[in-house]
Amino acid sequence: GAAKVSLVMVGHQAIMDAYLCLLHLTAGILIESLFNAFATAAFFKFVVFSIFEMRYLLAIWKAHRPQMNGGDNWDSMRRELSVLYTRFYGTLLCGIVLLYEFHRYLKPIVLMIHSFWIPQIVSNVIHDSRKPMHPHYVLGMTLTRMAFPLYAFGCPRNFMRIAADRNWSIALVAFMGSQAGLLLLQHYFGSRCFVPQQILPEKYSYYRRLNEENHVDDCVICMTPIDVRSSSSECMVTPCDHFFHGGCLQRWMDIKMECPTCRRTLPPA
Ligand SMILES: [Zn+2]
Ligand SMILES: [Zn+2]
Repeated sequence: GAAKVSLVMVGHQAIMDAYLCLLHLTAGILIESLFNAFATAAFFKFVVFSIFEMRYLLAIWKAHRPQMNGGDNWDSMRRELSVLYTRFYGTLLCGIVLLYEFHRYLKPIVLMIHSFWIPQIVSNVIHDSRKPMHPHYVLGMTLTRMAFPLYAFGCPRNFMRIAADRNWSIALVAFMGSQAGLLLLQHYFGSRCFVPQQILPEKYSYYRRLNEENHVDDCVICMTPIDVRSSSSECMVTPCDHFFHGGCLQRWMDIKMECPTCRRTLPPA
């Protein structure tokens, strides 16, 4: 579900790609003999960046604003979109200026740039989202994002003649590894598994017992009868006292957090 993916996380990655694209172009200009190779790489990066990532960014942005899908408030949507674009390019520009100013601290900065999973981890905890991203995506992204900086700063004989820095490389791997580890932990054991119980707000239980015995109803999601007395995993109850099959409501909540019967908002499960 796109609604569960953090907008900041995807924006962050898009900005990283924009930088890589610029970096390729600069390298191509500096090392003339390799200009063609670098320009091609930069071009592909740019295509991927501007088509796929911007699309993804827009899809997620739309999913975060379900009420905007109607055509009537197209104007406010366009206004918000231009704010989004302004922020994006503003951050991009600020980053370039900052990099230029502080290029002596390049390594710590590059390390900090690789914190792009953190907004997603935080958003998972806040919204208690269930499985927002596939583990393959998490692993693949982590590895591909790590490959280039590891080559540039960790490889003893690379063409950029940057001295290899083993400690920095270990720090990068540890940093990215722990972020990916947390995300996978959230995927398999629940988004709040590492947050102590005491600081969490009290959670609503969808399996609370009901007073009415012998009450038989239809599940409005699949239109088949549902036995309210049945074992606790079979039947889920919303705060508004509507009953659904456990599986039916779980799948429903992956798409929207709203009661299928009365459309009241649902607390995280
Ligand atoms: Zn059902
Ligand atoms: Zn309801």
